[in-house]
Amino acid sequence: MGAAPYPERMSSAALPFRIGYGEDAHRLAAGRPLVLGGVPIPHAELGAVAHSDGDAALHAVADALLSGLALGDIGQYFPDTAAEWQGMDSRRILAKALELVTGRGYRPLNVALVVTLDRPKLGALRADIAASVAELLGLAVTEVGVSFKTSEGLAPEHVQTRVTVLLGRMDV
Ligand SMILES: [Zn+2]
Repeated sequence: MGAAPYPERMSSAALPFRIGYGEDAHRLAAGRPLVLGGVPIPHAELGAVAHSDGDAALHAVADALLSGLALGDIGQYFPDTAAEWQGMDSRRILAKALELVTGRGYRPLNVALVVTLDRPKLGALRADIAASVAELLGLAVTEVGVSFKTSEGLAPEHVQTRVTVLLGRMDV
């Protein structure tokens, strides 16, 4: 171990802002519900194959929150082998991640969410998904950006999500 390269650097525990990143993916299959950001997607022919309700958007947001403070990932707190989480509402997963973040003195300031899904088209649900995620995080709807992409046919039976979140210390 050499000397610390940045001796004057403030400790990471004191940083006023921290960035978190999370991503998630689920296989899609017929006969399953599709939920994204806490919003049930109507007219989805395929839904997420998952232990919980398979909300890939909330799973990625939760992982982004945890990663911002180097708290690991949701699999550590909600192991998919635990029968008690079968079919669980993923809003509970997000609430746990938020509790861990606020317990360490930080809160989310803004979120960018990207959902890659071929069908159905989600554009009409952008405001609903943003409002749902904003409410769950205590943010204004203008602080939650939601982008939709398709896989261009590369992964028609998958949903993929990617999320960045900016965390801010609550005491500054
Ligand atoms: Zn997931």
